[in-house]
Amino acid sequence: MYYSDEIIEEVRSRNDIVDVISEYVGLKKSGTSYKCCCPFHSEKTPSFIVSREKQIFHCFGCGAGGNVYTFIMKYENYSFMEAVEYLAKRAGITLPEKEMSSEDKKRYSRKQQMYEVNKSAAAYFHFLLTKTERGKLGYNYYKQRGFTDETIAAFGLGYADIYRDDLYKYLKSKGFTDTIMKDAGLVEFDERNGPKDKFWNRVMVPITDINGKIIAFGGRVLGDAKPKYLNTKETDIFNKSRNLFAMNIARHSRKRGVILCEGYMDVIAMHQAGFDNAIASLGTAFTEGQANLIKRYTTDVYLAYDSDGAGRNAAMKAIGILRNLEMSQKVIDLKPYKDPDEFIKNLGAEAYEERIRNALTGRIYEIDSVVDNFDLNSPDEKTAFMKEAAQLLAGIEDSAERQNYIESVSSKYYLNRDELKKLVTSAGLSGNQVVANEYQTREYRNRVEIDPVEEDQKYLITMMVNEPYLFEKLENVLSEEDFTVDYIRAVADMLFKQYRDTGTVNPAQILNRYEDAENQEKVSGIFTKELEFDTTPSVLEKALTDLIIKIKTANIDRLLKTGEGISSIELAKKKSEIKRLRIKV
Ligand SMILES: [Zn+2]
Repeated sequence: MYYSDEIIEEVRSRNDIVDVISEYVGLKKSGTSYKCCCPFHSEKTPSFIVSREKQIFHCFGCGAGGNVYTFIMKYENYSFMEAVEYLAKRAGITLPEKEMSSEDKKRYSRKQQMYEVNKSAAAYFHFLLTKTERGKLGYNYYKQRGFTDETIAAFGLGYADIYRDDLYKYLKSKGFTDTIMKDAGLVEFDERNGPKDKFWNRVMVPITDINGKIIAFGGRVLGDAKPKYLNTKETDIFNKSRNLFAMNIARHSRKRGVILCEGYMDVIAMHQAGFDNAIASLGTAFTEGQANLIKRYTTDVYLAYDSDGAGRNAAMKAIGILRNLEMSQKVIDLKPYKDPDEFIKNLGAEAYEERIRNALTGRIYEIDSVVDNFDLNSPDEKTAFMKEAAQLLAGIEDSAERQNYIESVSSKYYLNRDELKKLVTSAGLSGNQVVANEYQTREYRNRVEIDPVEEDQKYLITMMVNEPYLFEKLENVLSEEDFTVDYIRAVADMLFKQYRDTGTVNPAQILNRYEDAENQEKVSGIFTKELEFDTTPSVLEKALTDLIIKIKTANIDRLLKTGEGISSIELAKKKSEIKRLRIKV
């Protein structure tokens, strides 16, 4: 660690956790806390809680939790130091010069060097494309696609030529090490044949993160070699499932929502046609991480996937992901053309605008896709189609919305409306049944894993953190031995110490530096939990008295059983003393 505890605490306290997390996900106020669907696991009902008062977050679904540092580290994939630097910058705090060990320096500057080497490679590819005779091949390819010189410059498009170590030699001359080139995925090293450029004979597209830093490349081969499209492998600065092509531009667009395309060539063509809100996932299927990235800027997503079978499947998957995150999904019909690029070339931007306005909602698109499998002239198949459609419609939670869909689907396909309605109702019932059963088994599974001793000790800490004045009242009642679970005892120690030093407790500070994520998550859960009863003194006194007697008695019973320490007569005496304990608050 390079920064003092004081600095780390100052940076933490000047970044309000609700404000920071709101920059990533949509939080809704709920009682004294804020709630949303967890960005770290897939869920439909929110169990992700953020407390402004305590400055911590916790997901009661997957257990993720901690303070503002933990969130940034988890979400951005940052190291602790990177999180400190990011949040310091956000709060306008200048960090003192850090003293790094040479090992740290190496690790830290490695990422910086990877950005640098990518930047140099991009400049070189662009130079080859625009300024050399050998680059003509690539330049002509782009021209054939209809890309203008402005577009080529704006996206920094380039060309990797036909020599196997051309880029390697260039980067070497710029002083980059073999290791950095390899780590950035630009050059491969083979013991027998030496260095070999990863990309050659390809037109090159730099891929940037949302801040515009080049993190990877996509290359399309010239000619018939395979693979047609090749991307940089995942590296320490390139996480495919967390980045979207052109998101750095789209996030500043004045157009409504984003248009999600299949590939970067589509995106470039669309930007050239004026749709600067077009983006694409990077050589993978659309992921939840990418959906969350979009959600930071907008919840409206238009899908412009290819109109073939593969494109349709990909669109269906994306619809499911977006729906889970409560984002709106609409599908742009590109027929009779295969992709957005072809569409715009043939019909122009205005016709495309029109298609955007008439985009189908995700539900209708799904039903449209299903209908192709049935011959609606056959009564049997028509019934089968109705059942399938009912299944899809039953998934709509809002009843007014569901009714509207039943109306429009029945009129679109000439189905009997009342019949469809009935089918939707029965599909909904059996669907709910399944969910309820699944929920029960999960609840049951959780219950058997719970250790009652641990639960009681956790709950005692929860009560004290929610009513900090209890630390003073309980200082003489509780002792270290009362907390028999290691991580809970450590937390109790820290809290009592904070209270003695400052007259209050600061749960978020305790979470600053946890070596062990599992314990940190458990502790954030204890801190985030709220009391389920009202905290008037008489109620609290009774609850506390009962709980502390229970904890102390359980500990003595355990000692009696194991025969450790004091004699059993001593213990029995202690036990009856405990029974008489009365807590006053
Ligand atoms: Zn979660």
